Amino acid sequence: MTKTIQAIRGMNDILPNETYWWEFFEDTVNDWLSAYGYQNIRMPIVEQTDLFVRSIGEVTDIVEKEMYTFVDHLNGDSLTLRPEGTASCVRAVLANNLLYQKPQRLYYSGPMFRHERPQKGRYRQFHQVGVEAMGFAGPDIDAEHIVMCSRLWRKLGITGVRVEIGTLGSAASRALHRTRLIKYFEQYFNDLDEDARRRLYSNPLRILDSKNPAMQEIVAGAPKLLEDLDEESLVHFEALQEILRNQGVDFEINLQLVRGLDYYNRTVFEWVTDRLGAQGTICAGGRYDGLIAQIGASSKHSAPACGFAMGVERLLALMQTGGTEISPPVPDAYMVHLGEAATNFAWKTVEFLRNNGLKVIFHCGGGSFKAQMKKADTSGARFALIIGDDEAQAEAVSIKPLREAASQVSVGLEESVDLLKASRE
Ligand code: ATP
Ligand code: MG
Repeated sequence: MTKTIQAIRGMNDILPNETYWWEFFEDTVNDWLSAYGYQNIRMPIVEQTDLFVRSIGEVTDIVEKEMYTFVDHLNGDSLTLRPEGTASCVRAVLANNLLYQKPQRLYYSGPMFRHERPQKGRYRQFHQVGVEAMGFAGPDIDAEHIVMCSRLWRKLGITGVRVEIGTLGSAASRALHRTRLIKYFEQYFNDLDEDARRRLYSNPLRILDSKNPAMQEIVAGAPKLLEDLDEESLVHFEALQEILRNQGVDFEINLQLVRGLDYYNRTVFEWVTDRLGAQGTICAGGRYDGLIAQIGASSKHSAPACGFAMGVERLLALMQTGGTEISPPVPDAYMVHLGEAATNFAWKTVEFLRNNGLKVIFHCGGGSFKAQMKKADTSGARFALIIGDDEAQAEAVSIKPLREAASQVSVGLEESVDLLKASRE
């Protein structure tokens, strides 16, 4: 016997009892983004592997162990399912010349793929909404991103989250810091774990992000980035804080923030919660002034930029365990009909009701009145609409409340619209 085919581990079906949360989320997010003048962009899910290696960084968790990479057998190209959206978005903007004399406020949403160990809040196919502002030097736009997030949380009914902000400084100050880190960690070479040794010369900043308890003491003593920051970045960081204070957005400064991608400079931030266990980061981003020139492979394409991405599954989990209340969509009515003339009239009636903004399920598949009424009941609809020979003759519809003890009435079509709408809460 052939075995049933299972979904891929860490890749979830999202079923109707869940999708209405997604739809509420998506509608809210789209309204929110258009309120800030961001425009939608849609990129392919597969890209040349090189795009991610070059932008995210060769010595990062994503590139080293999390990418779904495969060979296109027709031409031997190495392709990768996108693990994040920023690199693709920059590629698309460059390929289509969108930045020519015009900064861009963009957003995208959709599935991302990372080969991680699946657990609550961590999946191999997960969803992000990504927001990118290209051609802006900040710090005003950096602040806009943080301010707009706090508005979104309010709209979604999310509480108990906080934002941590940090700065990574300029490329030059990072290089200086890097040299000092290497010198420092070299002194403890024998105590470094395998990951740290491997990263010592390629990406020492990532050692600071080590989750290994045995490494914590060494990490704690490492030179602080703050000591190496350039003056301009400090001014930028101060100005960002000033706007946030003026806008009444509380924040915490965390100069240990190291993002899992190499392309960031200056501003970095993460929105975190304590309510989701270990997977507490719901949204993260920052400035990436060097990435556009890097992907465009020429300084003539250079443009400052910043952006962020949020994890949709984590946000939904937060909404569902927090105070957010939304109701599943309920059809207004379920149309029950029996007999040829009645069925013809019922077809007309449901289309008429839909023309008038009502949600109506038309019974399909025949059967007795009694069997159809059962279906009406399990459909969740508020009313059964009944059309038999009598109603068809009179061009009327009988309306029977299904969720409350009220009597059935028979009315004309216009009146049925008013009645069904009036009873909505
Ligand atoms: P983490 O530290 O949790 O691995 P990250 O730094 O790798 O997160 P980013 O690349 O910044 O994550 O992605 C932005 C957001 O996408 C994260 O804050 C998180 O909410 C979400 N996210 C990232 N990886 C996953 C995943 N495997 N499953 C579900 N959501 C994820
Ligand atoms: Mg990660």
